[in-house]
Amino acid sequence: MSGTAIVPGGSRGIGAATAILAAAHGYAVCVNYARDEAAANAVVGRIEQAGGRACAVAGDVASEADVMRLFETAETALGPIAALVNNAGIVDRAERLEDMSLDRITRMMNVNIIGSLLAAREAVRRMSTRNGGQGGAIVNVSSVAARLGSPGLYVDYAASKGAIDTFTLGLALEVAEEGIRVNAVRPGIIDTDIHASGGQPDRVAALRDTLPMRREGKPEEVAEAIVWLLSDKASYATGAIIDVGGGR
Ligand code: NAP
Repeated sequence: MSGTAIVPGGSRGIGAATAILAAAHGYAVCVNYARDEAAANAVVGRIEQAGGRACAVAGDVASEADVMRLFETAETALGPIAALVNNAGIVDRAERLEDMSLDRITRMMNVNIIGSLLAAREAVRRMSTRNGGQGGAIVNVSSVAARLGSPGLYVDYAASKGAIDTFTLGLALEVAEEGIRVNAVRPGIIDTDIHASGGQPDRVAALRDTLPMRREGKPEEVAEAIVWLLSDKASYATGAIIDVGGGR
């Protein structure tokens, strides 16, 4: 695989594992992050140590200006864009809908949905053969929450991931003739910091015994599915949504 892969939220968790694996498969990788510059630089350092090419670019995916700058910077630093992994995503503290503020709901939708749409828009503008591009692949990171709904926890988050599933199907068909494949993965409970960021640092341990495989997933296990979907090995897969949820 060659060309530049952009991984929004590539500095930690599933995004970091994906950035490192994509680089091992030959992509030059642009690692986007929101706040944690040191974590992003550490991922870039690991890729470069292994002989790959990478850069770190700060930016909030909910900001149109930041997303446009992300793509321009990545292209200038690393070359033409061939892949996008729409990975940046947030949760919030466990709450019932009736207690959620408009600010919280708006932020959830802006980061998880609008951020993915904006990044995909920039990718299609560059990759579509209709626009003179060479084609490429997009993988959206959804969640099994899109199926489960997350009642009492974060129905806003689950709804945002349901939107990502529908977006995956629609965009896949919209650009199917233009050399771009669009797919999604739906992770289950994966061992990352996202649970602590939602105020539940012990969530993985608390749920472990309820999971079908009696264990959580590792970010690297999700990255394998993402990088397969990016690759030419998945050349006839588009509009697919793959659960990597350990049966959840
Ligand atoms: P994580 O460990 O919390 O990492 C989140 C990453 O996204 C970080 O690199 C963070 O950068 C970045 N980020 C957050 N807000 C951003 C924004 N507004 N703009 C740009 N980057 C932003 O998360 P994760 O668990 O790896 O989750 C990655 C994706 O998988 C998300 O879409 C999530 O919904 C999905 N997912 C996760 C699980 C799970 O159990 N972990 C399950 C299902 C789905 P900073 O560090 O700089 O803030």
